Amino acid sequence: MNVRELYESLSDKLRCGRIDSPEAEARFMIYEVLNFTATDFFLKSQNEVADELATKLDEMCNRRINGEPLQYILGKWDFMGRSFKVGKGVLIPRPETEQLCEMIIKRLKDKKNAVVYDLCAGSGCIGLTLKRECPDIDIYLVEKSGEALKYLMDNATEVCKNTFLTIVKGDVLQLDLFELYPLADVIVSNPPYIKSDEVPLLQKEVTFEPAMALDGGEDGLVFYRYIISQWSQKLKSDGEMFFEIGEEQGKEVSSLFEGIGFNSRVIKDYNNHDRIVTGRKTPYDI
Ligand code: GLN
Repeated sequence: MNVRELYESLSDKLRCGRIDSPEAEARFMIYEVLNFTATDFFLKSQNEVADELATKLDEMCNRRINGEPLQYILGKWDFMGRSFKVGKGVLIPRPETEQLCEMIIKRLKDKKNAVVYDLCAGSGCIGLTLKRECPDIDIYLVEKSGEALKYLMDNATEVCKNTFLTIVKGDVLQLDLFELYPLADVIVSNPPYIKSDEVPLLQKEVTFEPAMALDGGEDGLVFYRYIISQWSQKLKSDGEMFFEIGEEQGKEVSSLFEGIGFNSRVIKDYNNHDRIVTGRKTPYDI
C-alpha cells in the first residue's frame, strides 16, 4: 500500500469510528510513524509503506476509536510552538493555557530575574515555556504525581536544555514544604478545577487523563482557595498570581482574591468564556 492509499483507508476507518476530524488525525498519525513533514506527505504520497508501519498505524486508529486522546497516541503535543511529551498520567496541554502563558510573558518582560512558581506543573507546559521565553527567570515547577514528573523531567530536558531550573516533587497544598524557598514575583497555576462529582461525567477522551489533574474537590475550588489564602504569603508585595479557571469559576475565584484584600481581573478566552483570573495587591489601573 502506498502513503496515499494508507491515508485514505485510515481516514475512512476513523470516520466510521465517529472521530470528528478523521483526515487531520490520520495525517498526524502518518507524520509521526513515517517521520514525515507536511511536505513529505505530498511529495512522497506514492511511496510504499512497510507492512509493520501500516499495522502500527492501524493499531493507533483502533486506540483512537476506543476514545483514547490523539495526543496520548502520538506521545507528544504542541504547546506554543514547542513539542511536549505527553501520555497516560499527565494532563494534555490545552490551547487556552497558551493565552495564560502569553499574558505572563508580557508581564515578565519588564522584570529582571523574576522568581516564578508554576504550581501543579504537570507536563511543564506553562513553566518551561516561560523559562524559554524569559530565560532570566528563576523558575520553580511543583508537581506531586510521580507519573507526571517523568514527563515533566523529560520535557525540561528537551525544551530547556542546559538552563537552570528547579523541579520540586511536592504537594502545593502543603505550603510549609516551601519555607526556605524565595518569595515570588509571579505564581501561576492551572490546577485541577472540576467538581469531584462531575469528573466521571466528562467526555470520553478526558476520562483517559489523570483524575488527579482534574479533580478540584467538592466545589472545584480547593486549589484556588488554598493557593490564594496561603501562597499569597509567598508573594512579593508587588507580585501577582495568574490562574486558569473553569468558565463558571470567574466570580468565585475573584471573590477569593477580594477576601484577602487583593485586586483581581477575570479575562475571557478566544471563545468568550471566562478563563483566566489574576490577582495582586497593587491596583490594576496602574
Ligand atoms: N500545568 C499543567 C497544564 O496546564 C497541568 C495542569 C494540571 O495537571 N491540572 O497543562
